[in-house]
Formats: sequence, C-alpha cells, structure tokens
Amino acid sequence: MKTVSYDRAADVSAALDALTTPGTQLIAGGTEMVNWLKEGIESPAHLVDISGLPLTEISTSPLRLGALARMSDVAEHPAIADYPVLRDSLLRAASAQLRNMATIGGNLQQRTRCPYFRSDTFVPCNKRSLGSGCSALAGDTSGHAIFGWSESCVATHPSDLAVALAALDAVVVVQGPGGERRIPAADFHRLPGDTPEIHSELASDELIIAVEVPGPAPLSHYLKVRERTSYEFAVVSAAAVVELDGDTITSARIALGGVAHRPWRLTAAESALAGVSLSDRNALAEAVALSFADARPLADNGYKVTLAQRAAVRALEATR
Ligand SMILES: Cc1cc2nc3c(=O)[nH]c(=O)nc-3n(C[C@H](O)[C@H](O)[C@H](O)COP(=O)(O)OP(=O)(O)OC[C@H]3O[C@@H](n4cnc5c(N)ncnc54)[C@H](O)[C@@H]3O)c2cc1C
Ligand code: SF4
Repeated sequence: MKTVSYDRAADVSAALDALTTPGTQLIAGGTEMVNWLKEGIESPAHLVDISGLPLTEISTSPLRLGALARMSDVAEHPAIADYPVLRDSLLRAASAQLRNMATIGGNLQQRTRCPYFRSDTFVPCNKRSLGSGCSALAGDTSGHAIFGWSESCVATHPSDLAVALAALDAVVVVQGPGGERRIPAADFHRLPGDTPEIHSELASDELIIAVEVPGPAPLSHYLKVRERTSYEFAVVSAAAVVELDGDTITSARIALGGVAHRPWRLTAAESALAGVSLSDRNALAEAVALSFADARPLADNGYKVTLAQRAAVRALEATR
C-alpha cells in the first residue's frame, strides 16, 4: 500500500506553491481522483484539497462559473436559464449525487472512459504508460474516436460540459506562477498525437480558476445519445447554438462529443448553415455531412458516422 499525504490549501497561492513540489496533485470534489487512486491510474505522493478555496462564484455579464462551483449549483442557477445547452449538458451528466460533489474544473480535467485505460489490471495503454501500446486498436473500438485520433491513442473525451462550452465559444481561465492565461474551451483538450499521456492544455503547475461564457444563447440544445437514459456517458452527443432571422439560420455553432479526444467543432457545417431554413431537414443534413468528409471510423465504430450526423441535425432542430 502506498501512503498519500493530504493537506488543505488555504488560498490560491498556497495551492500553486504546493504544485511546485513533484508528486503533488489537486483534489476538488474527488469524484474522479478517488477512483483513480483505487484503480492505480494516479499515485500522487501528496494531495492538496482545493475545495475550500473561494472559487465557487456564479456571476453574469459575462457569465462566469468559478472552477469550484458544483455541477448541480450551476445547473440550477438562474444565471444559466438563457443557456439551455449548458444547463442540459450538466443535468444529463453523471447522477444527482455526483453532481452535488463534482466541480466545473474537475469535470474538464476528467479522463477518458476507454475501458483499457480504466482497467484495474495492467493492459497496454499509451495514455497510462507511454510506449506500452494501445489495446483498443487491437481490441474493441466501438466506443472510440472517428476524428483526430492517432496510432498512439484512439480514445474520446467524456465530458458533456466541455462539448457545450466548445459550442458556446467559452474560455477557460487558468492561473499559474506566471499569472493568468485564457484558453478557448474548444482548444482546452488536446488531440492525442504522439503525446496521449497529456490530456489538456493545463500545465502541471496551473490551476483552473473559472470558465467564462459569452452569450446568452437562448436558441441552443444539448442532445446526448447513450445506452440508457440516465447515469451514463454519451455514445455521441451534439451541442448546437443558433441565431435566427425568422426561420433562417444566420449563425450556427455545433460541437460533438464522443467522437474525438476533445469536443469536435463542425466548422464546415457551421459555414454552410448560414441562410438555411431550420425547418429544412434535408438542407441541415447536407450541411452537417460536409464536416464528415474527414471522418476516419475504426473497425467497430462506423455506426458513429451516421449517428453523430443525425444527432447534430436533431440538436439543431431542437434549438427552438
Ligand atoms: C460514475 C460516474 C459517472 C459520470 N458520468 C458523467 C457524465 O455522464 N458526464 C460527464 O461529463 N461527467 C461524468 N462523470 C465525471 C464527473 O463529472 C467528474 O468526475 C467530476 O466532474 C470531477 O470533478 P471533481 O471536482 O470531483 O474532480 P476531482 O476528482 O476532485 O479531480 C479530477 C481532476 O481534476 C483536477 N482538478 C480539479 N479541480 C481543478 C482545478 N480547479 N484546477 C486544476 N485541476 C483541477 C484534479 O487535480 C484531478 O486531476 C462521471 C463520474 C462518475 C464517477
Ligand atoms: S485508446 Fe488511448 S486510452 Fe484507450 S487503450 Fe488506447 S492508448 Fe489507452
């Protein structure tokens, strides 16, 4: 058994100071970290509890979500009534009990649900042990990526919130020894490339402080396709945000979940949707299909190419 020491950070500076000691990791709501400790995914020497830091604010103009705000508090807050895509990405995630503990920052830093990565006995996984190989590529790829994967890793990112934030052009505000940095939410998570062990753009000596969300986005929707209707991760998901002139789309933003190592923006579709009637399902489907020209399904997940396109169209239609 490995001993882990535990401490509570008194303030943000103390948390940042603690991160300069190798082997130190942060814990917030603990809903991911405790599982990682049990599964051997992480084995820090020292855990610093940041849940008492004053980063729980939820404020407007612009909408700002403190990194330590609980998912349930954000989902129920009046400030996000004008962001249905955001509210529903939270309410369709995990369970009520988990959402009462889980934080916004922790949600963004959660890891893939690839079963090989989560295995409690060792199997080759480049994300767990770089250079060991990828068991998914030689095994079951039914839940894996169709965009942006590499030979090193074909995993997807599981956060629902991250998909909504990508479609909303949100910004993740982080703080490190050099001060504050602002990272577009759509770029916060990385593609695996040759470094699948690096999960996001957050440096090891940085803390997520808040998420800022432009808006409001009253015409928006989060559609989550899953194997059962609650307490389940997305097979695929789609976040859509539109602006309309009558029935005509003047601007559209769409991000998909469950298809890549990060939320996947459908930029070609977004351009093609300007001027399209929201009632014209065929035209919506044609525009969405443009973004699938570079889809690369794996041996077992060709179904996601069709499913994700249909989810995107349905999410667009449900924005009003
Ligand atoms: C059974 C189960 C089902 C789930 N289902 C879903 C789902 O359907 N959809 C979904 O989106 N999520 C789902 N989740 C994931 C859940 O949302 C996350 O576990 C949770 O949001 C993590 O937040 P936390 O505060 O508990 O993080 P912790 O477990 O405390 O930390 C997780 C990671 O985030 C880091 N971290 C936390 N806060 C910060 C910060 N401010 N700055 C820098 N790093 C930080 C920690 O160091 C750690 O690396 C599920 C989880 C479980 C266990
Ligand atoms: S897909 Fe990625 S996380 Fe899954 S086994 Fe391969 S390397 Fe590991």
